[in-house]
Amino acid sequence: MDYLPLFYDVRNRPCLLVGGGEVALRKAQSLIRSQAIVHVIAPEIDSALEQLVREKGGKVEYRFFEPEDIGDYRLVVAATDDEAVNKSVSSAAHAKGCLINVVDNPELSNFITPAVIDRDPLIVAISSGGQAPVLARQLRARIESLVPASYGQLAQLGGRFRERVKQVFSSPQLRRRFWENALQGVPAELALAGNIEAAERLLQEQLDSGESVSTQGEVYLVGAGPGDPDLLTFRALRLMQQADVVLYDRLVSQGVLDLARKDAERIYVGKRRSDHALQQTAINQLLVDLAKQGKRVLRLKGGDPFIFGRGGEEIEQLAEEGIPFQVVPGITAASGCASYAGIPLTHRDHAQSVRFITGHLKNGQSNVHFPELLDPAQTLVFYMGLVGLPDICQRLIDHGRDPHTPAALIEKGTTREQRVFVATISDLAEKIAGQDVHGPTLLIIGDVVSLHSKLHWFHPRPVG
Ligand code: SAH
Repeated sequence: MDYLPLFYDVRNRPCLLVGGGEVALRKAQSLIRSQAIVHVIAPEIDSALEQLVREKGGKVEYRFFEPEDIGDYRLVVAATDDEAVNKSVSSAAHAKGCLINVVDNPELSNFITPAVIDRDPLIVAISSGGQAPVLARQLRARIESLVPASYGQLAQLGGRFRERVKQVFSSPQLRRRFWENALQGVPAELALAGNIEAAERLLQEQLDSGESVSTQGEVYLVGAGPGDPDLLTFRALRLMQQADVVLYDRLVSQGVLDLARKDAERIYVGKRRSDHALQQTAINQLLVDLAKQGKRVLRLKGGDPFIFGRGGEEIEQLAEEGIPFQVVPGITAASGCASYAGIPLTHRDHAQSVRFITGHLKNGQSNVHFPELLDPAQTLVFYMGLVGLPDICQRLIDHGRDPHTPAALIEKGTTREQRVFVATISDLAEKIAGQDVHGPTLLIIGDVVSLHSKLHWFHPRPVG
């Protein structure tokens, strides 16, 4: 980030505005909305600007700016159409170390103003760092339509209850939980519908009974998808944002992890191929222990938790210990990689079924039952198949599958670094040999792979 986002208190503070035209008027309006006292200096001043400023206790001076005018002002805005004047305001302000914004000129400024969605006291500010103000404004329009106007009332309601809630709940964890329940539940619905009195009554009741806050921990076993954060489900995102602690492993992308609540504790429980077994029991136990401490535990797993994710084992122990949990499906690597690589897993002309198989080797060999995998109309998707790839392809051929069967290896599917290697089962191993391929990779075998050359252009560019 090039800028530190912050909200600055200008209430009843004199701020200097140099310029008297329409742009200056807009700036004066936003300063006055934040209760600043505005002092305008310009040889010509728009009458609406003058009236507004005077009405709100400010003053106007019809004259040219002088560097000494900066005086003790802490915040200065230059909104003239004269480059030289803007420059001189900027350098005088910089010399005095005050906050200076020259409209539409980030180089001359040390702060820039965001596009704002005003649901006072709730403010959403958006910035493109001065690089694409129109984009920021478009985003503002979208958020405007998403955030009901009455959100401000909801925030005010929160403000009125803040102290009371603090007195009832001493721990920040319980307070947060109270608010999360209140702001997602019936009190919020009442406030948003304009029934503030009823909302207040209900909140007070909940506060008196302590009912809305349970100290029972729970576990969310959440599928994080294959990498691109856009592929998360709404529910995954919601739970990610309310969990107290996040357990994640190697497959969860940074972009996804960044969406978890900022102050949630993050625990890396990454697994390597060799030390699976021991660690898995430790993870199962950790989930139980954390939940017993009353925490809301998010177990974030790459792809879908129930597809080669050992999700079943993790919740088994929770179930035995009576700990509440929920499982949120995710987009599994097969779906994500296939879509982003332009390889439909089934197709009327090419494949009537698809099979997900683990290519994980035991004692250096895959213990897959190959005679079941020879149907030319079945697509095979191997997870964890990179190390065993030469063996898998060779054994398919040995058992009688056509050596010309197309095969694709997709590396880091759905992420920006996605690479797709297409060949046949007889030469894929050779093709990737010198390519420095790293996991995670997914192996797709079957006629559908031939569609890649035709369809891969039309797939969304992965982000994150
Ligand atoms: N539960 C996960 C799979 C876990 S097994 C899911 O549903 O996707 C781990 C294997 O998944 C990796 O070895 C790899 O084969 C595959 N995989 C996961 N993410 C992937 C990605 N972004 N690109 C390619 N393969 C991926």
